Amino acid sequence: MNLPFRVPASEPSAKGCVDQPVIRERGQREVFCGLTGIVWLHRKIQNAFFLVVGSRTCAHLIQSAAGVMIFAEPRFATAIIDERDLAGLADIDDELDRVVNRLLDRRPDIEMLFLVGSCPSEVIKLDLKRAAQRLSKIHLPRVRVLNYSGSGIETTFTQGEDACLAALVADALPETKPTSLVVVGALSDVVEDQFNRIFAQMGLENVGFLPARHAGSMPAIGPETRYLLAQPFLNDTARALDELGAQHIPAPFPLGANGTTAWLKAAADYFGVSDERFTLATEAGHKRAEKALAAHRETLTGKSIFFFPDSQLELPLARFLHEELGMQLVEVGTPYLHRQHLRQELERLPAGTVLSEGQDVDRQLDRCRESKPDLVVCGLGLANPLEAEGFSTKWSIELVFTPIQGYDQAGDLAGLFARPLNRQARLGGL
Ligand code: SF4
Repeated sequence: MNLPFRVPASEPSAKGCVDQPVIRERGQREVFCGLTGIVWLHRKIQNAFFLVVGSRTCAHLIQSAAGVMIFAEPRFATAIIDERDLAGLADIDDELDRVVNRLLDRRPDIEMLFLVGSCPSEVIKLDLKRAAQRLSKIHLPRVRVLNYSGSGIETTFTQGEDACLAALVADALPETKPTSLVVVGALSDVVEDQFNRIFAQMGLENVGFLPARHAGSMPAIGPETRYLLAQPFLNDTARALDELGAQHIPAPFPLGANGTTAWLKAAADYFGVSDERFTLATEAGHKRAEKALAAHRETLTGKSIFFFPDSQLELPLARFLHEELGMQLVEVGTPYLHRQHLRQELERLPAGTVLSEGQDVDRQLDRCRESKPDLVVCGLGLANPLEAEGFSTKWSIELVFTPIQGYDQAGDLAGLFARPLNRQARLGGL
């Protein structure tokens, strides 16, 4: 479907979708579980290890999603709960201690160990918090042992990162001079370096990233800390930060030229950076991003897009695609709508956008088929059947694995949406 071109709004409308009614769905869901977060977290925190306490299914999921580390020792594994554990024939705490002790003896490079809960560990009420405290006592100061849940019971896959970072905030941050500005959310190293350079050019010092690349360099949090969210799915982490007295700087998310500039400006305004200095630090990047985006406008402008709820990145992506590339939003679904964190995104969405929260996959498929969008953003399980029906799709999980934040990634981000449409156009021309 090709809708008539609408010039993207350069400035957000007064209220956008802030007071918009939302379709609430509470039906069957098609999402990955929080264990998926280990795929990017184990690459980010270089001397951490993620030990899933789960079933063979959990082991298969994590192994096939994260692949095999051929040239390095893996930084994740699964301690499998088997029939003896379930039948109460073995002391599961003893078994876990044995696995952890053996792992830490063999791997002196590990400085932080996450015990990651799963559906099976939750179902049998395995107390991993207590286990982590017990093992921390044994292995500190060399290794800090933390726990969080990656279970797929009532969660979606990005909540694994949220739970992991919330555990870091609650238990593991060093009590030193608090970091002034913390960027919260796992970013690829290349994006982190770019933001670090821009913050330095703005004159902001004492900037930290959560999670940091090394277990021992996590930013310290205190009442003087202000934080910017780099990902929209970090509700529990934000709550844990607030409990330590840190304060959120409200901003849209750093996707695209406008999104990145608005995100950086929120920090600049908070810390009193002059307009002149801000422009000096950001103008070149903004222009580079705009130039890169222009290359994809011909493909994307006027095309319609439907978002199934999956990654929780849907609202910021929809804003970016509409505002900066002129795409038409048919429906924007998200697993959870955190109105406070997403307020500035809601303000920038065009009034009247259909928003949905939660999932009832059959009803959403009906709406999708009826509206015949040019592009569908959805989970892997829906993509293949929809492709078979003739829809162009984009896997939402790819948007979490790929560096998409910041000026120098804006063109690549647009390219991720343009590629399936270009492919479809080529196939149509055969
Ligand atoms: S945590 Fe639950 S949903 Fe995830 S792989 Fe294990 S059993 Fe499956």
